[in-house]
This record gives sequence, C-alpha cells and structure tokens, in this order.
Amino acid sequence: MSSFTSLPKPAVVIIGAGTFGLSTAYHLLERGYTQVTVLDRAEHLPAVDAASTDMNKVVRSCYGDPEYTRLARQAIEEWRKDMWQNCYHECGVLNLGDAYTEQSINNDLKHGANVERLSNTASIRAQFPLDLHDSGKLGTFASLDIASTGYINHDGGWAEAERAVSLLMEHVKKRGVKVLPGKPVQELVKDEHGQTKGVRCADGSEYEADVVVLALGSWTASAFPSLKLTGKCLATGQSIATIQLTPEEAEEYRKSPVVIDFRTGFYVFPPTHRNVVKLAIHAAGYTYTIPGSTISTPRTIVSHPDNGLWIPRSVLRELKVQLRNVYPALAEKPFSGTRMCWYTDSPDGDWVIGRYPGDPGLVLATSGSGHAFKFLPTIGSLVADVIEDKLDPKLAARFAVDRQVKPPNGERVSVVSQELNIDELCGPEDLIPTF
Ligand SMILES: Cc1cc2nc3c(=O)[nH]c(=O)nc-3n(C[C@H](O)[C@H](O)[C@H](O)COP(=O)(O)OP(=O)(O)OC[C@H]3O[C@@H](n4cnc5c(N)ncnc54)[C@H](O)[C@@H]3O)c2cc1C
Repeated sequence: MSSFTSLPKPAVVIIGAGTFGLSTAYHLLERGYTQVTVLDRAEHLPAVDAASTDMNKVVRSCYGDPEYTRLARQAIEEWRKDMWQNCYHECGVLNLGDAYTEQSINNDLKHGANVERLSNTASIRAQFPLDLHDSGKLGTFASLDIASTGYINHDGGWAEAERAVSLLMEHVKKRGVKVLPGKPVQELVKDEHGQTKGVRCADGSEYEADVVVLALGSWTASAFPSLKLTGKCLATGQSIATIQLTPEEAEEYRKSPVVIDFRTGFYVFPPTHRNVVKLAIHAAGYTYTIPGSTISTPRTIVSHPDNGLWIPRSVLRELKVQLRNVYPALAEKPFSGTRMCWYTDSPDGDWVIGRYPGDPGLVLATSGSGHAFKFLPTIGSLVADVIEDKLDPKLAARFAVDRQVKPPNGERVSVVSQELNIDELCGPEDLIPTF
C-alpha cells in the first residue's frame, strides 16, 4: 500500500497572501509540494489593508484554553529562530484581568512558561523601566482591585508583523511558490460533479488545482456569498491608534512589556523602531454592511480612501482613558493616526480550518478571530494536515467548517458587534487632546 508521501503531491492554489495563506504555502513547501500558487487581490504585497499587514502584533501564550497555549508556545519557539531575522521581540507580556487571566496563568504554568504572578500594584509597576517610575510617567494601576490578577509572561512579546509577512513571502517565492498580486478571485471553478477544481479571477484568468485553499481573511464571507459563511467568518472592524514619540521619549518606554488588560480588552505595545506606540482594544468591534447585501464587508483604506482608516470617536476616547491608567504622560500627547483593521470572527473564537462540507477540493483556512498572527510560523502546518487528511481528530473537529459552535471563550469582554456608524468616525481634529 502506498503512503501519502509516496504519491505525487497535489497542485494547490491558495487565495490570500496573509498569515493563513503564506504560512500554508511555507508548510506545503516543507512537505515537498512543488505546485503551489498564491493569488492575492492587492496590486502590491503585502496588501496594505490585510489584517496581517500591521506594524506589530502581540505574541503571547496566555490563553484561557490550554490547546492555544500549547500551540502558541510552539509558535514562540519558531519565532526565536534565525529565519525570522529578529522580527520577534521578547519583551514579556503583562496580563491583567480576572477569571480569564487566572485560567491563562494556569495554562502557561502547566506548559512551562516563564511566568511570575503579580499580586499587587507595586509588583505590576516593577515590570517597567525605573526611569518611568522616577519621572512619574507610569500609571498607578489604581483601577486594579484586590480580586484582580496580574502576571508577567517573559516568554512572549511582539512581532514586526508586516516585516515578518514580507520575509515569509520572499522566502516561499525563492523556493518556487508563485505569489501573484493583482489577482482578485471572483469565482470557484467546479467540475461536472460540483467539486471545486480551480478559481477564476476578475481579469478572466483561471488557475486549476487539486485543492483550493480560501485564506481571504475578513473578505472570505463577502467574496463567496454562495458558501454562506457569514456565521462562521464575520468581518468585524477593530480600532487601532498610534502615538509618535521622539527618539528620546521612545528610549524611556522601550524596555516595557506589552500590556494587555483582559477586563477591558485594552492593550499597548512598547515603541517600535520608528518610535511609534500602538494601542488598541480587543473587543466585539463593528460590522459594515453594504446596501443591498447582508454580509459584513471590510471597509478599508482601499475601498474607502477618504475615511477607511478612521475609527469611531467613542473608541478613540476610550483608548485615551485606558492609556492614562498605564502611561499617563502619553495620554497627553496627540494621536498620530488611527486604523480600522478587520478581524475574521468565528462565534466561538476558534479558527476555521477544514474542508468545505461536500467539496473535498475546497479547504477553508480563516477566522483568525483576532489572534492568529502570532501563529504565522506554524498555522500553515494545520492547513497542510487538512490537505493531507491527517489533522489530529480533536483539532479537526474543533476547527471544522460545520462544527457545533461553543459559547465564546471569554477572551473578549463583549462579543456582540454593532453596525459601524459612519457619522461617528473620528477625523484629524479628534487626534489632538482637548484637555
Ligand atoms: C486590529 C487587529 C489587531 C490584531 N492583533 C493581533 C495580535 O496582537 N496578535 C495576533 O496573534 N493576532 C492579531 N490579530 C489577528 C491577526 O492579524 C489575524 O488573525 C491574521 O492576520 C489573519 O490573517 P489572514 O490570513 O486570515 O487575513 P489577512 O492578513 O487579511 O489576509 C487575507 C488576504 O486575502 C486577500 N484577499 C481578499 N480577498 C481576495 C480575493 N477576492 N482574491 C484574492 N485575494 C484576496 C487580501 O488582499 C489579503 O492579503 C489582529 C487583527 C487586527 C485586525
């Protein structure tokens, strides 16, 4: 009997050159696939409005679910390798919160992470550079009550997201993967039995494949309405803001950990090499439904060049309030920009990685649910396992397209999205502090 490895490898076409798509291409190469093509709608890659194209992303293993802790710790091992050319910065992740944080510290401890429990505000403040204490630029964390839990996980930090995606893309291209920009895929091409056997792009070009992987991120449900994926891959707009520091200011904050407060969803990074501090809220976010459609569709700088980057004014205000708890002096500075970035949400927060029911030629690799970037080095191996029908059965059931959805995992304070009100978007005048 011949094993899968001795059979010719199938031709695979991957739609989307983001975290899921490129990581899949990489892992297929590692398994000896020679016919791998990645198509992306963007003229220039990485796509400026893809979720994965961002200045930085948190790399953490603090999850309330032990399986994600295990997978994240595997990914962190990979991030430390030379291949990533120091895109990953292991500054530690300071986790603040209550029940979810308590579960995640237990999971981190079980998996051998280098963590320390922090039971009072003095020990939380001790995680920051001394200069910030001395200059009064560190918050008091007074909002933490006695029942709150905090811990620092030294095995975590942040990754330069856009650079990491570019590195991976160049890596797979050098090894023979065709990565083709300017190829918006519009249709699945089916055989006489209704099975997917390729895709058709807006310019009429067709790409045949034994397996088509849909990794379109937040565009997945709206690009293929006939697949009825709205309830599994909901596009939700999430709000980011940035603050530009001077090089001198940035030095003061540089050695700080990433801070995540699971009670509010607020998180803030140390400054990047360009001295930019990014802050955001991991929450339910906003849907955006185009007139005549019922499917939430990403609204970005590409679809709306005039105001696709702006976030709701109320979220901008909330970001400032939360920032004041951590870095009061930064909260006095103007924001340098905002961006609405689009999650692809499943109702339970689990990814969707599996074959589309009734269509063995079609694999979905999506629903990052706001936490998939950190798995860039590894997530594609799960997709490759699906293609080779050898994904661990427990994971296969968990990530299946047609699974029974569990209640949300408690990582986010709210999971019910509101429809985006365009009249509520901020503009340049809102970036300046008014107090
Ligand atoms: C604000 C924000 C903060 C986040 N923070 C973190 C974090 O700190 N840590 C973390 O681990 N994760 C984080 N995430 C989640 C993470 O970014 C995503 O889970 C991950 O990047 C999703 O990757 P993707 O490949 O699914 O989608 P994307 O990166 O969006 O890629 C999809 C690609 O598909 C292409 N495409 C779309 N339509 C078509 C079409 N019709 N034809 C061809 N190509 C098409 C797009 O151009 C794009 O390049 C965050 C996400 C956001 C939005």
